[in-house]
Amino acid sequence: MIISVASGKGGTGKTTVSTSLALSIGKDAQILDCDVEEPNAHIFIKPKIEKKESVSIPVPKIDESKCVFCGKCQEACVYNVIAVIPATSERSGKTLTFQELCHGCGACSYLCPVGAIKEVPRETGIIEMGYAGDLEFIHGRLNIGEAMAPPLIREVKKKIDKNKTVIIDAPPGTSCPVITSIQGSDYCLLVTEPTPFGLNDLVLAVEVLKEMNVPFGVVINRADLGDSKTEEYCEKENIPILMRVPFNKEIAQSYSKGIPIIEGMPEYKRSFEELLKKIKEEMKK
Ligand code: SF4
Ligand code: SF4
Repeated sequence: MIISVASGKGGTGKTTVSTSLALSIGKDAQILDCDVEEPNAHIFIKPKIEKKESVSIPVPKIDESKCVFCGKCQEACVYNVIAVIPATSERSGKTLTFQELCHGCGACSYLCPVGAIKEVPRETGIIEMGYAGDLEFIHGRLNIGEAMAPPLIREVKKKIDKNKTVIIDAPPGTSCPVITSIQGSDYCLLVTEPTPFGLNDLVLAVEVLKEMNVPFGVVINRADLGDSKTEEYCEKENIPILMRVPFNKEIAQSYSKGIPIIEGMPEYKRSFEELLKKIKEEMKK
């Protein structure tokens, strides 16, 4: 079973929920931090990293001694990675390649009529794997300045062990990295807060999940602050609210020290076990 934990916006307590949910399951669980631009689940899980892997995508390298400057590669690339300056009677042709924009689709090298394009690997990030007790931990770290999170997220997700309960900590928002993270999940938990901004971003996230056809429920963090509009929206849309976490000074203090809720306040272990039970019940519907 794969459960994604997502949120329409950052700062709602998504990682607080995902880490405590994973820790409450323990040895039969695996947590994947797919927020590769800013992974922070490790701060709470504190895994012992046992293995690292480099992740690369194939990018084009043009051999100008073979190139006839026909421009076919430039036309093929929808990401504007390649610029071809044709030869004239005064100067020879030239090609420019902006590799950091490349999505590694391979179309340019496939279409080059003279085989002038070779694909070379370019590292975009790393995957780190380890354990915290019995809990398996995996996360991706995108290299600084790198814009392409989805290929790294896909590589992180290749580590999914289908025999375990998999918790995916998705990036915040509703963009491509979020969709790549959630794709293939059996259920998605949307963590929100009862504020106008929280509700606005929750509505956007709900629309995305409906399009993706992934069943979902809501966790309201700091549930006793803000207004009742989030509750009213969920009721109107028939979206189950599976957990309400109150605003609590001890939770905030634990968070600031990198202590998961269920370790700072062990009485919450039961609440997270209950949350998993409710998810399973929702999935049966
Ligand atoms: S398709 Fe090949 S030959 Fe044509 S411009 Fe590109 S690299 Fe050069
Ligand atoms: S591999 Fe795809 S994205 Fe990269 S330069 Fe070639 S056509 Fe463009």
